[in-house]
Amino acid sequence: MNIIVCIKQVPGTTQVNVDPETGTLIRDGVASKMNPYDLYALETALRLREKLGGSVRVVSMGPPAALAVIREAVYMGADGGVLISDRKFGGADVLATSYTLCSGIRAMGDYDIIICGKQTTDGDTAQVGSELAEHLGIPHAAYVRELDVEDGCIRYISNLDNNLVTARVTMPALICVDGDINTPRLPSFKRSVEYGDCGDLIRVITLDDVEDQDETHYGLKGSPTQVERIFEPDKKKEKEIFADGDLAVKTFEILKEKKFV
Ligand SMILES: Cc1cc2nc3c(=O)[nH]c(=O)nc-3n(C[C@H](O)[C@H](O)[C@H](O)COP(=O)(O)OP(=O)(O)OC[C@H]3O[C@@H](n4cnc5c(N)ncnc54)[C@H](O)[C@@H]3O)c2cc1C
Repeated sequence: MNIIVCIKQVPGTTQVNVDPETGTLIRDGVASKMNPYDLYALETALRLREKLGGSVRVVSMGPPAALAVIREAVYMGADGGVLISDRKFGGADVLATSYTLCSGIRAMGDYDIIICGKQTTDGDTAQVGSELAEHLGIPHAAYVRELDVEDGCIRYISNLDNNLVTARVTMPALICVDGDINTPRLPSFKRSVEYGDCGDLIRVITLDDVEDQDETHYGLKGSPTQVERIFEPDKKKEKEIFADGDLAVKTFEILKEKKFV
């Protein structure tokens, strides 16, 4: 079973500023970590490998600093990883990001399952997994909270809020896992000593390594989404505190005045 897990490096804090000119995140100097949902994706892959054999490779698209999350994945148990990184991939919106991941994954060779997290804690669109599956032309299942492999298919349970859906997809397929699928393991100190900077286990893929080298499909040029303005909403600061009298009546009057009742 050859499994690829998509992992993204995200800011480790919510205090991230935005470049007012470009509308992109200013990531320099901000502490980073692996997107929490991708830990569940990686744990799912490691458990499948323990049961069925095969390999687990992680892939991340990002700047060279994203090597840190690939190393963390190796310390958790991944066999190796790929960083898809090139200045020409910078400024990508969701369409260009998923297309770049698709090109990079095609350059990685065969796979049976691709596993993504449900969403990220920075971009938070929850669209990359499904768009990636579309680009690759493979079936896709989202919000997966349980899965198993049988007869060349992935049998899974999806959590669609009001309903749990049990279904099957044929492999190769892409699965986006929910946060309640498992409890991710911690990185192993022993593996961190053994593999260090993971030199031989990590490959960097640039635009020169992918089949489609048309620059207009990547980065800002390949991004139809144009951010016109990005800003923090004004925080309303006026407050009125009522401490005396019939508070229920007062509350009702305010709600009525604001036409909530
Ligand atoms: C116009 C525009 C410009 C942008 N410019 C920039 C920019 O300059 N720099 C920048 O960093 N971001 C930029 N972004 C944000 C970028 O598009 C998103 O970070 C990216 O599309 C991923 O979307 P998401 O975080 O919502 O992922 P989600 O769809 O929420 O992620 C779902 C899952 O997909 C996988 N995944 C997502 N992203 C990656 C990745 N990079 N590598 C591996 N797996 C991944 C993970 O498994 C994740 O759990 C820009 C967005 C727009 C709209």
